[in-house]
Amino acid sequence: MIFSKYNYLFHSEEHGFFLYNAMNNVFIELTEEQYNILQDIKNNIIVPDSIDDFFLNQLLENRIIVENDLDDYYKIKFQRLYSRFDDSSLALTIAPTLACNFRCSYCYEGNTHPNIEMSDETEKKLIEFIKKYDNVKSISVTWYGGEPLLSIDRIRSLTKQIKAINANYSAYMITNGYLMTENIIDELSNLNIYTLQITIDGMEETHNKKRPHITKKDSFQKIIHNMEYFFSVYNKKTISVRVNIDNSNEDEYHLLHKYLTDKFPNKNISIYSGFVTNYLQNSCNSISCEFDREMKSKFMLEQFKKNGVQTLDFFPVISLGECCARKINSFVIGPEGGIYKCWNDVGAKEREIGNVHLTEMTNPALATNYLVGADPLEDIECQNCFYFAVCSGGCPYFRLKNKFENTERDCCAIIKGNLDEFLTAHYLIKKIK
Ligand code: SF4
Ligand code: SF4
Ligand code: SF4
Repeated sequence: MIFSKYNYLFHSEEHGFFLYNAMNNVFIELTEEQYNILQDIKNNIIVPDSIDDFFLNQLLENRIIVENDLDDYYKIKFQRLYSRFDDSSLALTIAPTLACNFRCSYCYEGNTHPNIEMSDETEKKLIEFIKKYDNVKSISVTWYGGEPLLSIDRIRSLTKQIKAINANYSAYMITNGYLMTENIIDELSNLNIYTLQITIDGMEETHNKKRPHITKKDSFQKIIHNMEYFFSVYNKKTISVRVNIDNSNEDEYHLLHKYLTDKFPNKNISIYSGFVTNYLQNSCNSISCEFDREMKSKFMLEQFKKNGVQTLDFFPVISLGECCARKINSFVIGPEGGIYKCWNDVGAKEREIGNVHLTEMTNPALATNYLVGADPLEDIECQNCFYFAVCSGGCPYFRLKNKFENTERDCCAIIKGNLDEFLTAHYLIKKIK
């Protein structure tokens, strides 16, 4: 029996002795005596068999002491492969339009915002494409854009037809929130939309600067007003508020967090930090400087230490699912019927893997690259990594770029390198609760 290589033993002067196991996501507070025993086992000073039965059984149950590390590794590998090739459901991300009524400073579409909307013919072909998956147990759609609400009629029409194909249908919408009017909010149940994601990038002045409406000065108050109506109608539906952080708004995160939690007490609102990502270049651009992993980690920990605010989960989560780009039955559909694997590819002709207007896939090589090329399951560094179970290897888009275009994007988990600080913060949150 050996001390699992996925154990992380640490001592905090202030809070005591701890053990975390990344493969099974177990976090245990230890006595000093237990900590010393584990240090001795780790350093091969004593063998596990020599410790008392009760403690040894606990260690075995939690897989702190294992026969070998490979069993745990294969379990996670198998579950990831299963999730990747599970074809029992169909998950689509549909952009019915690329047009947008905002002009965000960091938008992936740049300043062009082509006014491309889905036509009736493309809608018809998309429904034919979906009908090919008539054996799946469920269908889910994420409405995306541009701003999807600019094409609400298309969303209504597609929803009606998809519900007729498969009654087990659910939807999610990523919207800037501006056009989320009372009529549309009243309709959400009929559209099977259970959760909205809205981005608010700071308090009023900052948000309006970073996410301006194309003609109106204010978008912040309009979004807040729409959220008020949403929560007056729904108790169970959720709004996820994403705050895209860069160096221009990091100091406002806690203010916005307080503002929203005070304004919407006891409502299903989940506020979290995203980070502005520059997908086009390999470094900061002039508009916003992208945070590296260390900056993200520092931001998250400082928000907690200084303001008592949690921006993302501090405690790792076992990662068994995969990004849509790496799932066999997940597709992103552009307004002209282009089929993609990654959200970030929408609108780029050369990144299409097919088109709903065509019967054959046009770029199956790109599809298989996303599925199994630049694969963390094949990457020696990931295979040997302590974080393997809680990091699915990062964004497949960047992994492919690193492999085939010689970029050096960091794909590692934010917690890597600062694990004891994140675990200590988690411990404090649990203790306060
Ligand atoms: S709301 Fe979204 S699509 Fe519209 S400009 Fe902003 S980032 Fe781009
Ligand atoms: S490959 Fe990366 S950018 Fe594309 S959808 Fe997945 S996580 Fe997002
Ligand atoms: S991407 Fe980085 S943190 Fe994640 S498993 Fe691979 S080496 Fe580890």
